[in-house]
Amino acid sequence: MKRTCINLLLLVCGSLAALAQPRVVAHRGHWRTDGSAQNSIASFRKAAELGCYGSEFDVWMTADGVPVVFHDATMDGIKVEDTMYAELMNHRLGNGEYLPTLQQYLQETVRWKDCRLVMEIKPHRTPERESRLIDMAMKLVRELGLEDRTDYISFSIHACKYIHEKNPKAMVAFLGGEIEPKEIKAMGLTGIDYHLAAFEKHPEWLEDAKRLGLEVNVWTVDGEQGLRHHAALKGIDLITTNDPQLLMQILGSRQ
Ligand code: MG
Repeated sequence: MKRTCINLLLLVCGSLAALAQPRVVAHRGHWRTDGSAQNSIASFRKAAELGCYGSEFDVWMTADGVPVVFHDATMDGIKVEDTMYAELMNHRLGNGEYLPTLQQYLQETVRWKDCRLVMEIKPHRTPERESRLIDMAMKLVRELGLEDRTDYISFSIHACKYIHEKNPKAMVAFLGGEIEPKEIKAMGLTGIDYHLAAFEKHPEWLEDAKRLGLEVNVWTVDGEQGLRHHAALKGIDLITTNDPQLLMQILGSRQ
């Protein structure tokens, strides 16, 4: 009986240790690998194949209101926000893929059920344009049955608040790094997704966020030293990295 109890205790402790491990989010997908490119559909597939907890990607809206997945404000020298989709659609990413629309991108994610979507809404010229983009993005997410698997992030506080207002159950984290956890909580948001420098400046925010029940994501942590350091920090739930494979190896060796 005693031995059974001890074994059970060890099992519980082991499970808790595994739970305490930060989860891996591939930054702009898993793109540092053959056949991939940042924010390509292939980069999501490769992050999912690798077994990442989630894959992050960036969303802009073209001048005529088409949501597209891309990071920079400009593509091949033209501003995405000010350009018609028809002008952008034939531009290619580094791996040869055409610029994906959000719809094309999300359609691919449907079959990768174990990988969360971390959707970054880029700050647009006006709050109205952000709201319009969010309306379309959330509609697509709902129609494709992805609501339970999608986390939203943004540097725009308007975008974060608007997403929360539209769906109070949605996971929404602010990226900006300058707002303290209790204010984030008061806005109804579910997490902070801050640059690693924000936690160096305010190490107490990790504990504050935990106490408030906020999810903590840190970006962008690359290289073995940084990944090991952040993987060992108490209070970090998610690490966003360009090296998801390396982080998974590090976490695997810690178990
Ligand atoms: Mg991003």
